[in-house]
Amino acid sequence: MKTLKRKYARTALIMIGLGFAMIVLYCVLGSELFRWLFTEDIYRDSPAMSVVRGALLWGGVILLLLGALVRYKKLRCPYCRKGVAPAKWSYFDDFYCPRCGRAFPFDDEPDGSLKSEKK
Ligand SMILES: [Zn+2]
Repeated sequence: MKTLKRKYARTALIMIGLGFAMIVLYCVLGSELFRWLFTEDIYRDSPAMSVVRGALLWGGVILLLLGALVRYKKLRCPYCRKGVAPAKWSYFDDFYCPRCGRAFPFDDEPDGSLKSEKK
């Protein structure tokens, strides 16, 4: 049976986390607090700052999209091909496909089998 690879869940998590962090940083750099902290013109409203903010925003958006793409391409339910598994860093419990109700088979289950399949 085909299993889902944990490394893809981690890849998607890192991409989404990093993309989210970059968008947060983009907002922080444009905030009033940042302007208040750095009142010198070289830090705010400079061309370099707008380049940095643009890179953060677009980099963040692209990383979020790539993370979502990895998740939708690589963490699809192998039974029905419709549900998508949640991107978790490591195994701690079974997760069930919202479409067909079967547990997602990841490649890092402890002792190689799903809880739901043990007696
Ligand atoms: Zn399914």
